[in-house]
Amino acid sequence: MYDVVIIGAGPGGMTAALYASRADLKVLVLERGIYGGQMQNTAEVENYPGMGMISGPELSEKMYQDSNNFGAEHAYGYVTGIEVNETYKTVVTEDNRYETKTVIIATGAEHRKLGAPGEDEFAGRGVSYCAVCDGAFFRNQHLAVIGGGDSAVEEGAYLTQMASKVTVVHRRDALRAQKILQDRAFKNEKMAFEWNKTVETIEGDDNKVKALQLVDTQTGEKSTLEVDGVFIYVGLVPITENFSNLGITDEEGWIVTNEKMETSVPGIYAIGDVRKTILRQITTAVGDGSIAGQEVYKYIESLND
Ligand SMILES: Cc1cc2nc3c(=O)[nH]c(=O)nc-3n(C[C@H](O)[C@H](O)[C@H](O)COP(=O)(O)OP(=O)(O)OC[C@H]3O[C@@H](n4cnc5c(N)ncnc54)[C@H](O)[C@@H]3O)c2cc1C
Repeated sequence: MYDVVIIGAGPGGMTAALYASRADLKVLVLERGIYGGQMQNTAEVENYPGMGMISGPELSEKMYQDSNNFGAEHAYGYVTGIEVNETYKTVVTEDNRYETKTVIIATGAEHRKLGAPGEDEFAGRGVSYCAVCDGAFFRNQHLAVIGGGDSAVEEGAYLTQMASKVTVVHRRDALRAQKILQDRAFKNEKMAFEWNKTVETIEGDDNKVKALQLVDTQTGEKSTLEVDGVFIYVGLVPITENFSNLGITDEEGWIVTNEKMETSVPGIYAIGDVRKTILRQITTAVGDGSIAGQEVYKYIESLND
């Protein structure tokens, strides 16, 4: 019987492991891939305080080492579900079943993809899903932002601080973003708009993105937009499909927690990108992980009362 099983070894899960094992709990971290989560796909992280500029894989390695310092176990496992019993939970993987007093879900989120040819090929070489992370690499360059919701418009405006121009490509003739964000965007001299356009292909050479081939949704007319990078904001998808039976998600699949990271099921916690929250970053996942790592200790103590 574990005290806590943590599902996902991204920054959130690894921090929760550090805190819980340091509190002398018996901890197991289950990961379906390589530790580090989305950090493993990040060339450079320059907004994690104390590390200066560090590569995502290097930061992953450091967090992994630290998460092991106090005895947390790591194991490979794709978690397919959680069974809730009277006094304990069972975490089910494709190959095993683990009994535990508490569970921390740290499975993160995936960016919804456009599905356009070139999107995967140029990922990290001009195709990005994170302006806060990658915007600074495009100083004085022309960028495209795909989407018309709050994220696209807000992140597009953020990118104008670095880029020479940001063209928002939207498949409709009006934005969906909040009016205040739209007003700011329309006043921003560095922002331009391509209305009623979808991205047919993302093109480039060996090293980076060079252009987007667009199609007009009304006329079918094709056009070329020359850009140095493209930021895609057509939605994030939480990785919660295997937990939907627990009744802990909202209508979009995000897990709802309180400030202690507790879900509506006692003993089940959620942290990081998978949570319904306002900012999804390494720092916030780490913050959530530290709270949950501490809270599971208090929860287990209360079971003994
Ligand atoms: C390209 C890119 C660049 C970024 N750059 C930055 C940056 O510079 N600075 C910054 O602060 N943030 C950046 N981010 C965001 C940051 O990486 C995330 O906010 C952070 O990783 C979230 O951490 P997490 O622990 O919640 O989830 P994740 O990092 O998503 O980790 C979740 C883990 O859970 C595992 N998992 C999922 N489902 C299961 C399952 N069923 N069973 C077992 N394991 C499972 C996954 O394999 C994954 O390893 C970037 C994101 C991307 C994609």
